[in-house]
Amino acid sequence: MAQTPKNIAIIGSGLVGSLLAIYLRKKGHTVTVFDRRPDIRTIKFSGRSINLAMSNRGWRSLQKVGLEAKIKEIAIPLDKRAMHVNDKPVYFQKYGKEGEAIWSISRGILNKRMIDLAEEEGTEFRFNEKVWDIDLPTARLYTGETEKGEWKEYQYDLVFGCDGAFSRVRHKMQRQSRFDYSQDFIDVGYKELTIPANEDGTHKLDKNSFHIWPRGQFMLIAMPNVDGSFTCTLFLPFEGKVSFESIATEDDARAFFKEYFPNVRKDIEDLTKDFFNNPTSAMVTMKCYPWTYWNKVALIGDSAHAIVPFYGQGMNAGFEDIYMLDKLMDAHGDDWDTIFSTFQKERKPNADAIAELSYRNFVEMSSKTADLRFLLQKKIEKHFATKHPEKWVPVYSRVTFSERPYAEALAIGDQQEKIMKEVMRMPHIEEKWDSQEVEDRILELLTEE
Ligand SMILES: Cc1cc2nc3c(=O)[nH]c(=O)nc-3n(C[C@H](O)[C@H](O)[C@H](O)COP(=O)(O)OP(=O)(O)OC[C@H]3O[C@@H](n4cnc5c(N)ncnc54)[C@H](O)[C@@H]3O)c2cc1C
Repeated sequence: MAQTPKNIAIIGSGLVGSLLAIYLRKKGHTVTVFDRRPDIRTIKFSGRSINLAMSNRGWRSLQKVGLEAKIKEIAIPLDKRAMHVNDKPVYFQKYGKEGEAIWSISRGILNKRMIDLAEEEGTEFRFNEKVWDIDLPTARLYTGETEKGEWKEYQYDLVFGCDGAFSRVRHKMQRQSRFDYSQDFIDVGYKELTIPANEDGTHKLDKNSFHIWPRGQFMLIAMPNVDGSFTCTLFLPFEGKVSFESIATEDDARAFFKEYFPNVRKDIEDLTKDFFNNPTSAMVTMKCYPWTYWNKVALIGDSAHAIVPFYGQGMNAGFEDIYMLDKLMDAHGDDWDTIFSTFQKERKPNADAIAELSYRNFVEMSSKTADLRFLLQKKIEKHFATKHPEKWVPVYSRVTFSERPYAEALAIGDQQEKIMKEVMRMPHIEEKWDSQEVEDRILELLTEE
């Protein structure tokens, strides 16, 4: 259904704001994007780059507006994990079926490209303009240099808050009665480090793998960039025996890497300098509801649902929000009340589900990887899934390589967990984990579900 053109403001030119601008321009709306930061295309590259994993949900959202091929030019497919366990050769675990991969992409490069593309579609960007306040019932915005200084006023028909986990737009919505809000920081932080390219521009590690150095309470990961480098992320508790707090000097940092990451330590550029120069960042799960105000204001992306990054789904979920919103715009035309109310009702359970799955993955990675019974359970599941791929699709694949709702992946994952609890109770499971008896028991339990 066609829509009457509206004058729309988007707060935030991040990944979600810039993709939403493209979608809204394609529907014929006038779109202005405000960002408090300068235009990232004009900033000299700081040397640090976060990279992200794009998976099916993200690609589907780009494909719908014809951008998949353009963005794949700046992405690298990763079809497996490369596990680096001390004293053992690297071993590889395929992510999914043949042809299934997640894609490594630099957040900065992607964001620049998305802003270019949104501009080509006719979006106006207003950088260096921070939104301080919004009058929700009238969709009026106030921007300015400082909170106490002089403000400029803008009137729009609709406003989308794509201003990230610490959203100003949401902040205003929080002051209403019956607005639910929670935020939970985890006690682990992260820091980015770099493995530069070889002199000939090639990658120092296998280019088509997501590299993981699991170490129980902490881990290092690395994803490739198109310039031959890798971005590494060290996840480590803020406090405790082995923690960011306990690494206070360059000697401490050197000793830490020597003990836990001896094989990769020499490849990391300026290890000790970067360790102290690069910030240690926190990770938060943020939930809120409602996400919309009348037919005037809506939160999309991290402003509505920020999650910890252990499933690689934050951006994917934000892009999927846009895809779903677009479907509702097609179905309901100018009825923005219905578009907004259906949007939040349909998306909220899915946002909660991916938040839960991401948090569980964090717990799994940090506390269960050394648990022998947990590892045995995973081995049995894998064995069964290989034999019966149509009966047992792992939750990871349901989240990453499917477009079915996140809430469904969570529910099926819970059923699978229930079955596995029963299986793990079978006597002598350690010896007979790959037997016909265990296989039959799983098949039996599946029919009972
Ligand atoms: C370590 C880490 C790894 C991650 N890995 C993955 C991954 O592998 N895959 C994945 O899908 N996701 C991943 N994510 C999540 C992903 O980065 C986010 O979900 C995504 O960037 C959210 O985009 P956004 O546009 O909603 O918000 P943001 O990217 O936060 O953008 C918000 C924008 O709003 C602007 N802004 C804020 N306040 C105002 C204001 N008052 N006025 C004007 N402008 C304002 C900001 O300047 C910013 O440009 C990861 C996150 C982290 C931290």
